[in-house]
Amino acid sequence: MSTLDAPVTALKGVGEALAIKLGRLSIERVSDLLFHLPLRYQDRTRLTPMGTLRAGQEAVIEGEVTANDVVKGRRRSLLVRLRDASGIVSLRFFHFAPAQQQQLHVGARVRAFGEARAGATGLELYHPEYSLMGHGPGGAETPIDEHFTPIYPTTEGLNQPRLRALVQQALGLLESEPEALPEVLPDALRRRFGLMGLHVSLALLHQPPPDADIDQLGAGQHPATRRLALEELLAHRLSLREVRQRIQQDGAPLLSAGRGLQARFLAQLPFALTGAQQRVLEEIVLDLARPAPMLRLVQGDVGSGKTVVAAMAALAALESHCQAAIMAPTEILAEQHYRSFQAWFEPLGVEVAWLAGKLKGKARLDAKAAIADGRARMVVGTHALFQGDVHFQRLGLAIIDEQHRFGVHQRLALREKGEAGGLTPHQLIMTATPIPRTLAMSAYADLDVSLIDELPPGRTPVKTVVVSDERRPEVVQRIERACGEGRQAYWVCTLIEESEALQCQAAEVTCEELTEALPELAIGLVHGRMKAAEKAAVMAAFKEGEVDLLVATTVIEVGVDVPNASLMVIENPERLGLSQLHQLRGRVGRGSTASFCVLLYPAPLSQSSRQRLGVMRETSDGFRIAEKDLELRGPGEVLGTRQTGLAQMKIADLERDADLLDSVSALAQALEGDANTAAVLIRRWLGDAAGRYGQV
Ligand code: ADP
Ligand code: MG
Repeated sequence: MSTLDAPVTALKGVGEALAIKLGRLSIERVSDLLFHLPLRYQDRTRLTPMGTLRAGQEAVIEGEVTANDVVKGRRRSLLVRLRDASGIVSLRFFHFAPAQQQQLHVGARVRAFGEARAGATGLELYHPEYSLMGHGPGGAETPIDEHFTPIYPTTEGLNQPRLRALVQQALGLLESEPEALPEVLPDALRRRFGLMGLHVSLALLHQPPPDADIDQLGAGQHPATRRLALEELLAHRLSLREVRQRIQQDGAPLLSAGRGLQARFLAQLPFALTGAQQRVLEEIVLDLARPAPMLRLVQGDVGSGKTVVAAMAALAALESHCQAAIMAPTEILAEQHYRSFQAWFEPLGVEVAWLAGKLKGKARLDAKAAIADGRARMVVGTHALFQGDVHFQRLGLAIIDEQHRFGVHQRLALREKGEAGGLTPHQLIMTATPIPRTLAMSAYADLDVSLIDELPPGRTPVKTVVVSDERRPEVVQRIERACGEGRQAYWVCTLIEESEALQCQAAEVTCEELTEALPELAIGLVHGRMKAAEKAAVMAAFKEGEVDLLVATTVIEVGVDVPNASLMVIENPERLGLSQLHQLRGRVGRGSTASFCVLLYPAPLSQSSRQRLGVMRETSDGFRIAEKDLELRGPGEVLGTRQTGLAQMKIADLERDADLLDSVSALAQALEGDANTAAVLIRRWLGDAAGRYGQV
């Protein structure tokens, strides 16, 4: 084994204690040091004349000590004055040893590096790094640095010079055994994509030559950074592809239903499926009839009718004597699905079970027993369905609603649930987040994608207005009118300072105010800090029409379906992302009456917020909104990638490097069938995480 592949303790001077610190930086093998890139760089390659130094500048200066005093200000300090031909600068030390004062005696020549601040005596460097120069003419000159100095992300107890020395050791090893870290991208591909070599890129990033563009480096735009980012994105893409291949090697139950249950279900629905729903359903039916697990993502804008498609797919499983499960990200949503599936399936003679975290004691045991012995054929729940103590008799299809709240790992965990029968369940993932194509390729490279690109007929688009807080009384009157005409309304209080507690408090206060202003209306309140049973009761009352106005926090963001609600007021909409506003707004406009969304902002509104909210007024196209959102806020927010593992990249940044994604696709295609290269890349960039992706 090459030293580069060995644990860091193979390096000179690295013992257990240091290895633990390095571990905190995810540096375990020697080669990990090479991929631990600097955050930024310092320019110590030239001397700055003191006279040209500005406050805030980091610079190397050199001069002769002209004074050296211990001064008693608010804190005692050692003040050393330096002079060169152009000016005077002081060095200040709050902690100093007596020997230091002697070392920096008057007449000594000192070179120092630090950040200049405007201090009591003019420009000062606090605690600079410094060295003493040869004494006078003929003394040995220390050469100035030849490279920019890298500043690394580090951890307590590990200083920059130490980390720098370790990286230098690793670079030395790379030079002496270059084949230990092979360039796996073939020359032809590198030329085609204009990519720098791997070793050249690493060397450059750890010790950029003085003619490198330091701003470009700092911004992660240097060709060397981009080469590495591209390789990392490629490794993630290949890893997702591998996950897919691994799952698809498993057997899956053949779900080729006669259409009995489905036909009866369709006959009892008060509407016909849209063309888009039918098309997507056909794609699903084809997958289910194959002996490999389906891995399919259904994207459909809010209100496009994904639940009915899910129900039809579930019926195919039931008819083939398998169970089906649907999992939602919140209890409110899971309960809503539970009620829908009960109403739809019980008339067909199908028992529907319910399982969520809040279900305790005997009820929980009963539900688990019914799931295990197969009495419960349709199971609805939250992520509680994933827990190790839940066993299915024969799970044939797992449906995950609003996928962006779930991660890759949970998706994979489903494999285990089918193990009892020796078969892996089919997976159907549904999301209302319209994901721009290139991003979808990165986040969901392991999934096939179906698109419900049509809304059910008879919907009138929601009219959106942007209104200043000063017109609040008018907005309240508007609610009074709508509810007076028998319709219902939402009033949404948005996040305050990231604090759920404050958000709930705001909703409580607003609810009180509205109750006072609108005494004749029945007003309900739901927020995240209420007990699940209380929330459910309020939601149920709203669904039944017993509550006219629902005051809520963003907990109602996804999926809640009350067609009679035709007005939504969103307070402080400028705090939310556009995709989130779109999700919220999708709660109205589900019936046939014209619906309105009022974005109630506190005046004055910044130019950029005005522009953002303008997008909401102009379009109800979820894809356009998502593209705008991506532009304005980045992919982490749009995808919820924090939970998908995509955010754990070392060098690449989906937002910054979005323009690389097309090349990533092309490279992944070019490497199709090259299992060796894929394995090297995945191990290099995902390390042990790659195993986790595949095995969960
Ligand atoms: P989402 O895709 O946002 O999850 P839902 O599945 O909740 O949407 O459906 C939204 C509403 O549209 C529900 O009231 C549902 O019954 C209704 N719906 C679904 N499909 C159709 C259709 N083909 N025609 C009319 N209404 C439909
Ligand atoms: Mg839904």
